[in-house]
Formats: sequence, C-alpha cells, structure tokens
Amino acid sequence: MKGLARTGKGQIGWVEKPRPSAGPRDAIVRPLAFAPCTSEIHMIWGEMGDFMPPDRIMGHEAVGVVDEVGSEVCDFSTGDRVIVPAITPTFGRVPAQRGFAQHCNGMCSGMPFCTAKDGVFAEYFHVNDADANLAHLPAGISLEQAVMIGDMMTTGFYGAELADVALGSTVAVFGIGPVGLMGVAGAHLLGAAQILAVGSRPNAVKVAREFGATEIIDYHNGDTVQQIMDLTDGEGVDSAVTAGGDVSIIGQAVQVLKPGGTLGNVNAMEHAENIPIPLAAWGSGLGDKTIRGGLCPGGRARMERMAALVKHGRLDPSLMLTHRFTNFADIEEALILMHEKPRDLIKPAVILE
Ligand SMILES: [Zn+2]
Repeated sequence: MKGLARTGKGQIGWVEKPRPSAGPRDAIVRPLAFAPCTSEIHMIWGEMGDFMPPDRIMGHEAVGVVDEVGSEVCDFSTGDRVIVPAITPTFGRVPAQRGFAQHCNGMCSGMPFCTAKDGVFAEYFHVNDADANLAHLPAGISLEQAVMIGDMMTTGFYGAELADVALGSTVAVFGIGPVGLMGVAGAHLLGAAQILAVGSRPNAVKVAREFGATEIIDYHNGDTVQQIMDLTDGEGVDSAVTAGGDVSIIGQAVQVLKPGGTLGNVNAMEHAENIPIPLAAWGSGLGDKTIRGGLCPGGRARMERMAALVKHGRLDPSLMLTHRFTNFADIEEALILMHEKPRDLIKPAVILE
C-alpha cells in the first residue's frame, strides 16, 4: 500500500509498505477523509520528529471505513464507517485507571499514530483497541464535519475544559487556528458570557465570531494583554485557553488571569527550554492562578459525545474547512499548505467521497 511519509527531517515523500494487519482487539481502517495537522508540521519540519525512524507514514486525523477487525472486537465490523480519534490509548493500563489514559504508556504516549507506528495518510491504517477507540459515524454528519472531530474539536474543547470555563464567566482564547477556534466554541457551549479571541486572520476572525467570540483581540491594534484588561474593566479573565504561539503565550495568559483563574493549555510548544512566567503577574508565586496543560483524552466515549454535539446542531466544525481536496494523493498538497500557512487557511482536508 501507499502512504505519505516523513522521509527525513524536513522531507516528505510517498512510500510503499505492506498493509498492516489487525491483532485480536485491533482494526484496520481505510480512510474516507483525512486532514493534516500542525503537529505533523512540528514532526516533519520542527524538533518533534527527531526521534522518528525514516519513512514513518504521517497523519493522525481521519474518518474511515473498517476493513478488518480482530477476533476479539465486539462492536465493529467490516464496512462500518468510523470516526478515528487522534488519541487512541491503551485503556487497560494503570494511568487510564487514574483517569489519564492519554498518558497510558508514558507521558503523551496515547497517540501511537506517527510516534509509535505509521499514521493515517495511507491506503490502510491500524487502530489499536478498536472497541475502546473507534466511534461509529452517526447518520447526518458529513465527512467534512466528522474529520474535524477526532483532533481539532476534542483538543480545542479540552482547552476549555482544562480552563474550567463556567456559566457566565469571562474567557480569553489565545490563538484562533482550528484548535483555538474549537476552544472558542467549547467555551461558548460551556456557558461563557464573554469570550475574547486573540487573532487577526480575517477568515479565522469571521469563524471565531460564528463560534461565539464576543470580542476579537488583534495585536495590530496594541498590546494584547492591555486590550484584554481594558475590555474586562481591568479585572482580567476567569479562564484562559492557549492554543497557538510560542512559549511567551503562557506568560501573557497568566497576566490576564484573575486570582483564582485557570489557564488551559493545548498548544504543543518547542524551540525553548523553559516557559517564562512574569513573577509579578503571578503574585510573586502566590496569585492563586492555576496553570494546566494537557493532551486531549481520546477514546470512544468522548468521540461519541463530540459527534452528538455535531449531530444535534450545537456547532458545525466544518466552518473551519477552507481548503477542500478530493483525491487520495492530494494529502501531500494539503500537508504542504499546512506548512506554508497562507493567510486564508484555517484547515485543509481531503474528502474522498
Ligand atoms: Zn492533529
């Protein structure tokens, strides 16, 4: 089978590999839609893929049809259409019993795609623990919507969950790429009253407003922190979600948090040893500001809840799809587009039917 691989640092290319096979609890899935992600850009062109063997097939965002199941799989059969979460933990491990399945085999190990095995940009791909990880694609959800669920939606929502967004609260979302936009939508669904979205790309600003942003903070108009303080009568926000930028974004978020506020980070950061946090803004370390960062939990139950939100019309994540491709081989162009990040891009995806 063919797959699009990281052939070396900063290099991609098509490779030919044997079709994977399913262990007793696993499934083999054929993609119906897939999308590139910023994490692939970090893995191919940044530091995050430095550990990878050559010719690792990329991709962790897909919707597909089950092609084979192992002998112990109960709830899925060949031909089922499924949402595949980016995070597919081993749920039998102790970290899962503690509530952190996404760290099942060591920190951040819950995404075996690309890291421990080939990813989804292939004619077929392997999914571990199919009953625990796959979710049936409900009728009434388009592939354009579904392909946003397995990573963008669940990750952005996790930012809002980590930030403890409460009814009637004030929330700042730093970054309105696709994950940040889903952070805005998550904060809206959790009942935030005021949602300040930090970003400037016109397409993303428009979608941020549709997902519930009440104000847009554009750094072209002045200091981001000052603008947020001005718009909150100098008080700051209850919750901050960071979903983009470099390590300095954490310091900015801490500056705008009220005492008692919580930061939820879902931004994978690189190119730094440490995260600088302004001491005064954290009350010399006594400011009762909670900083949380997490990898979104994967798994079937969460995917089913995400899909239910789309099915029942609570949000339409396909609003983020700015560049739609239709052929299998187009994933290469979509991935390069993600790397080049033209100003009108929010999310590219390949929709195969
Ligand atoms: Zn992703």
